[in-house]
Amino acid sequence: MKPRTGIGFDAHPLAEGRPMVVGGVDVPFDRGPLGHSDGDVLIHAVIDALLGAAGLGDIGTHFPPGDESLRGAASTDLLRAAVRLLKGRGWQITYVDATVILERPVLKPFIGRIAQSIANCLDLDRGLVNVKATTTDGLGFTGRGEGVSALAAATVEAAECGTRPERAAAAPLRSS
Ligand code: MG
Repeated sequence: MKPRTGIGFDAHPLAEGRPMVVGGVDVPFDRGPLGHSDGDVLIHAVIDALLGAAGLGDIGTHFPPGDESLRGAASTDLLRAAVRLLKGRGWQITYVDATVILERPVLKPFIGRIAQSIANCLDLDRGLVNVKATTTDGLGFTGRGEGVSALAAATVEAAECGTRPERAAAAPLRSS
């Protein structure tokens, strides 16, 4: 089966006193993303890219923002759940690329750990996950330090064995 690609995007405001969690890694900073979960924009973008590639809807379908059980949830747990869903439907994740967009802090010293953290959640070799960081040179909400955003692209293929993806119906992970 031919590879399929999905894209993901997410943004959250930054607030004082919140931990700056990026890709499941705590980055020292005085502000962090505000969100119902831990607000990890990178993970949320990756989840949407994966679900998009597999034709399984979006993150809000599987993890509704009003779900009290998800308050303060670690987004790495949500990503692992999304990976289980894809695998259960017969999809194999083959590559993930992502970009975090924020003015500060400089993420370069943490990029390796962040990519490894994502790879661990995806059960993928580190070489199959690429993470980048960029600023917007002061432009927009990210440039003013008001928020952080992330973009992701994921590629999947039908696993050699397992459920034929085209026969598996898309259904939410969590029943309401
Ligand atoms: Mg989000």
